[in-house]
Amino acid sequence: MMDRLWHDANTPQDARALRSETRELVESQMWSLVADIDHVDESVESFPREAFNALASAGLFGVPFRPDVGGRGLTHPTAATATVIEELAYASNSVAAVYDVHCILAGASLAQGGSDVCQKYLRAVVSGQMVGAFATTEPDASSDLSPSAIKTVATPTNDGYVVTGRKRFISNSPVADFIVTLCRTGDSLSLLVLDTTDSRVRIGSPDRKMGNRGQLTADVDIAAVEVPARNRVGAEGDGLRIALSTLTLGRIGIAASGVGLAQAAFDLAVDHLSRRVAFGRPLAANQYWQFRLAERATELENARSLYLKAALRADLAGGAPEPEASMAKHYGTALAVDLARDAMQAFGGYGFVHRLGATQQRCRIEEIYRDAKIGEIYEGANEIQKWIIARQIFGRGLTG
Ligand SMILES: Cc1cc2nc3c(=O)[nH]c(=O)nc-3n(C[C@H](O)[C@H](O)[C@H](O)COP(=O)(O)OP(=O)(O)OC[C@H]3O[C@@H](n4cnc5c(N)ncnc54)[C@H](O)[C@@H]3O)c2cc1C
Repeated sequence: MMDRLWHDANTPQDARALRSETRELVESQMWSLVADIDHVDESVESFPREAFNALASAGLFGVPFRPDVGGRGLTHPTAATATVIEELAYASNSVAAVYDVHCILAGASLAQGGSDVCQKYLRAVVSGQMVGAFATTEPDASSDLSPSAIKTVATPTNDGYVVTGRKRFISNSPVADFIVTLCRTGDSLSLLVLDTTDSRVRIGSPDRKMGNRGQLTADVDIAAVEVPARNRVGAEGDGLRIALSTLTLGRIGIAASGVGLAQAAFDLAVDHLSRRVAFGRPLAANQYWQFRLAERATELENARSLYLKAALRADLAGGAPEPEASMAKHYGTALAVDLARDAMQAFGGYGFVHRLGATQQRCRIEEIYRDAKIGEIYEGANEIQKWIIARQIFGRGLTG
């Protein structure tokens, strides 16, 4: 449906090309790899390794990055990256999330570091030789990342740090080669890269989740791990700034994944409403569904335009593209939840069933319904996004 309703009037050529490239990859390889992704309990073996390798072979991990680390050196890397994520989420929100964490959270934070971390880790992110993870969340801190809330501590030594603490919900960690970790250094925060080959970095069992089951999360227990100073990303004390600017890019990605998922629900609903007959005519002959889908088509247009605008501001002007990134994130992810609910209702009982016993016919609506919710929660809950926007309306003096 997107091709019928959406006209790429404002999308730059490089981002447009990435949409076609990703769609081709999804059509030729991804669908078969992701069909069961949300119906298998989480384990190290359930990581979508083949999908990850396919993304690496297609060079899609290079989209956000500069040529000196093996990246594509695009003019509009943020817009192109977000477009890739939208197209991946159309097929699988888990794969889109794995890509977002690997490339944006781990990759884009490393890209703000010095040449040591870029040469050792970022190059391996781009080639897909390593899987990256990014850890800010702790059992008692997530929305609040202030230095007083973070309990993971990096104590300076002669040539680096000793890190002790615990991180929670860390995506990719059960299979990651390294984890970019937010730690307290004195009164401020710093980002350090921890190698998971160190036996004192202990990864817990993968969490069992409602959806996004191909996105493995787990606790990371950090037991007096020695980290060399060359593994610091940026200057000591600059960790919160780098983490927050990375999360701003991340939320553009999550906005795009919301749009991809919303578009998938929309397309499936349109198809079902056009074919399913009740009271002697297709469901779509009821004006209720015509108007409902017309409203959702308008919201999809808005949501896509919003994340692309946020991305283009980041590409053209640099800095944090606020309030657009926060607007795009809360709007796009809420739309995915709304459209998943609409599609479930339009499908009736067939939406609630994953595989029909009688015919083995499969329906993806319940998967989309389960996957959509997390977009409203992670990479800054939607209430935090509204707070960021409110700060621009009323000023920090009033909003805090
Ligand atoms: C599948 C999954 C993957 C994840 N991946 C990662 C990862 O790779 N790395 C990582 O570091 N973390 C990750 N997280 C953690 C995620 O980012 C946090 O769960 C999220 O930020 C919310 O934090 P919390 O769960 O601690 O909720 P809390 O901070 O306790 O907030 C709970 C709720 O309170 C509300 N709230 C909070 N603050 C305010 C406020 N100021 N005003 C109004 N309402 C408020 C919001 O509705 C929020 O949803 C992941 C989580 C999940 C479930």
